[in-house]
Amino acid sequence: MVKWIDEDHWICENHFKSVRMYKSVGQCEGIGCTAVRPRKSVTVIREPYCSWFKCREDNGFRARARKGSKYCNDKCRKAFARHRYAEKKRRQKSKV
Ligand SMILES: [Zn+2]
Ligand SMILES: [Zn+2]
Repeated sequence: MVKWIDEDHWICENHFKSVRMYKSVGQCEGIGCTAVRPRKSVTVIREPYCSWFKCREDNGFRARARKGSKYCNDKCRKAFARHRYAEKKRRQKSKV
């Protein structure tokens, strides 16, 4: 039996002592064992979504963020900046 034990490792239990493999290893390293790496079902890599909570850029739904960015596009980045600015102003006003 083979199974994932964490994000980066899977084990083969066809042995007296289960053999641990790194995620990039496709086959059990135990001698004479032909067990192969199980399909990863436990952990799904979640892609980050646009940080702008009102984002509707993906056909009316929140779009995925661009690589290296918290937003899907510049429009959302600016919208969020505007929103934050307005919030700040409002807070300042209510203080007075
Ligand atoms: Zn094995
Ligand atoms: Zn967006």
